[in-house]
Amino acid sequence: MPATLIDGKAIAQQVRSEVAADVEAWVAAGHPPPGLATVLVGDDPASAVYVSGKQRACAEVGIEGFDHRLAHDTAHGEVEALLRELNDDPRVSGILLQLPTPPQVDGPALTEIIRPEKDVDGLTPASAGLLAKNRPGLRPCTPAGCMELLRRHDVALRGAEAVVVGRSDLVGKPIAQLLLQADATVTMCHSRTRDLAGVCRRADVLIAAVGRPQMIAGDWVKEGATVIDVGINRTDAGLVGDVAFEPAAERAARITPVPGGVGPMTIAMLLRNTLTAATLQAGVAAPGAAA
Ligand code: NAP
Repeated sequence: MPATLIDGKAIAQQVRSEVAADVEAWVAAGHPPPGLATVLVGDDPASAVYVSGKQRACAEVGIEGFDHRLAHDTAHGEVEALLRELNDDPRVSGILLQLPTPPQVDGPALTEIIRPEKDVDGLTPASAGLLAKNRPGLRPCTPAGCMELLRRHDVALRGAEAVVVGRSDLVGKPIAQLLLQADATVTMCHSRTRDLAGVCRRADVLIAAVGRPQMIAGDWVKEGATVIDVGINRTDAGLVGDVAFEPAAERAARITPVPGGVGPMTIAMLLRNTLTAATLQAGVAAPGAAA
């Protein structure tokens, strides 16, 4: 395998250590610790595991955790009231409503009432607008994590051909915008794209965010490309990405594995965003954070 492995686990650990140091400096400068409020409605076991993981990660870096768990039959209005309370609570720098919510609670609509400067998931229309306008704000965690992987591997983006497969609001669109802001020439692909293989073969940087196991074949990868595989697919053979890893690694210069690539970056960037949120609310520049 000639490709260098982009070790997301190790890079995520570095980011977490840096956030811990920056939080320490922030508190030493006389600020209250940043706080992350998570809101989980219902008892979906996978969601409970995610929320616990986020809260544990906060504790490790000195971010105060506010862990709100509501019964599965909680009314929409009650969740809304809690989010409004958290919006106004100065101890809470960031708010995260864990999706999906039970049917009586319109999770996506409620996410939109989170104040932009507390939107640590970076997914509200206001945050999307700030990203589109290249104005300071909170960027979605997984796309920000992909950019961090590229940055730490010194992948040249200016003028590079970047191809993003997938156009979701969660991943594909924000990654494309971040790449554009880094001066890449960006092509976005989706289920209606003609000659997807041919478009992918042009990519110096290929981002796969589709959700189809190993759909990107090895010979879709340009020799020497950097491949970031966002996909997480559960198969009988275990967890696999959207890229056929082995053959792609024969041609790529750098590639992320699944698991252990993009996945671990998401929580790391959530921690970074929570500190950035605290600094935005205090009206000062974030220590160590990209705008
Ligand atoms: P999504 O909302 O389902 O979007 C999938 C995108 O892929 C859509 O834009 C769709 O096109 C496109 N697509 C589907 N089939 C295609 C095909 N045959 N050819 C070309 N494009 C195709 O998924 P998502 O939320 O963006 O997630 C994508 C993957 O990333 C999933 O595997 C998810 O589990 C993973 N993920 C990982 C993390 C992480 O932390 N690592 C975070 C989030 C998501 P249309 O728009 O035309 O339908």
